[in-house]
Amino acid sequence: MTNFLKTEGQEQRLCPEYPTRRTLCSSDRGCKKGWMDPQSKGIQTGRCVVYEGNRKTCEVSAWCPIEAVGEAPRPALLNSAENFTVLIKNNIDFPGHNYTTRNILPGLNITCTFHKTQNPQCPIFRLGDIFRETGDNFSDVAIQGGIMGIEIYWDCNLDRWFHHCRPKYSFRRLDDKTTNVSLYPGYNFRYAKYYKENNVEKRTLIKVFGIRFDILVFGTTLKYVSFVDESHIRMVNQKLLGRSLQDVKGQEVPRPAMDFTDLSKLPLALHDPPPIPGQPGEMQPLREEATPRSRDSPVWCQCGSCLPSQLPKSHRCLEELCCRKKPGACITTSELFRKLVLSRHVLQFLLLYQEPLLALDVDSTNSRLRHCAYRCYATWRFGSQDMADFAILPSCCRWRIRKEFPKSEGQYSGFKSPY
Ligand code: GDP
Ligand code: ZN
Ligand code: ZN
Repeated sequence: MTNFLKTEGQEQRLCPEYPTRRTLCSSDRGCKKGWMDPQSKGIQTGRCVVYEGNRKTCEVSAWCPIEAVGEAPRPALLNSAENFTVLIKNNIDFPGHNYTTRNILPGLNITCTFHKTQNPQCPIFRLGDIFRETGDNFSDVAIQGGIMGIEIYWDCNLDRWFHHCRPKYSFRRLDDKTTNVSLYPGYNFRYAKYYKENNVEKRTLIKVFGIRFDILVFGTTLKYVSFVDESHIRMVNQKLLGRSLQDVKGQEVPRPAMDFTDLSKLPLALHDPPPIPGQPGEMQPLREEATPRSRDSPVWCQCGSCLPSQLPKSHRCLEELCCRKKPGACITTSELFRKLVLSRHVLQFLLLYQEPLLALDVDSTNSRLRHCAYRCYATWRFGSQDMADFAILPSCCRWRIRKEFPKSEGQYSGFKSPY
């Protein structure tokens, strides 16, 4: 609360409306019994009565006397709220990483006040400082009230070696400070204090002007990309997006070592006929030359098989990713892609392995197979499940899988972060 208007000693009875263009009258004919004007505080009795001197208004049944239509006091009555402080407690949870933390950590000096450069981790904010940050003068805002957005951005790297997870605070004035009087500027609300006097129920009505804080919490975590012509995996921060994922440099992380004992469990072993002697080996390397560039393939594509994203413009960059960093053959042309990712047998086996009695009806089959294929690709290329959940599929793989297991109608929804 920074300012207020008080209407004291109200009780429920009949009294004249506060005089405005809408409520003034000269005779009972100007009033209508039972009528409730949406801007009024009561129900008209149908009589026109004296408000003050020679001014007459319609009589209403309401809490009387009626609140006067008035301007907020200048300067604001609680101008010194400028020096008030607020402590913000913010707990966050990244369920995909099983990680929680908060903005108040042991060792915090609880007598601090936030300062953008000198004390950026202090969670105690002086109101005057917040408004100075957004270029506003607290005394001005205090008169009509206002809405202040406090944005807390959690920039986290949950990787063990580069661990970093601290909040960044910023402020944004959310109400429109240029709005004129007729468009209800600022921020206010009413409340009443009820009491009894001589056994009559009474109230004090208070119109309060103040600051509402809207706290907006954002978080990002990392995404992983893998190029078939690079031995490492790249970790990218979503914040950097806005340009094609293909061009984001990111940070190199080692590809988790494959546990080769797991290979024996792969379902493809169950279905493959033993190699016929004299025939070329099963595992062929990627073809040397690049697939001829298809006419649709976008500029960022290095393998010739990628397609433009169908996502809305703001999310498109997330799907602008090729299987390669440099020009060459597409991973979708490899034998293993066909066997591990596209094989209906393998995918059905995996789905049934999880749900032995799964009834694969016609409608859901393709989408289950498709989603399973995405997971197969991610597990194959990223190894650990932690990374696979946050792995972005190259466009060529995404569309090759969709071509194999298409959706009968509607658009594909694309990557959804598992939060
Ligand atoms: P839908 O079947 O119409 O919902 O569309 P999609 O074929 O795009 O599949 C969406 C599902 O696949 C969601 O659960 C996504 O999280 C998942 N998915 C799509 N793209 C990716 C990706 O690049 N990486 C990962 N890890 N999952 C993805
Ligand atoms: Zn490509
Ligand atoms: Zn490719």
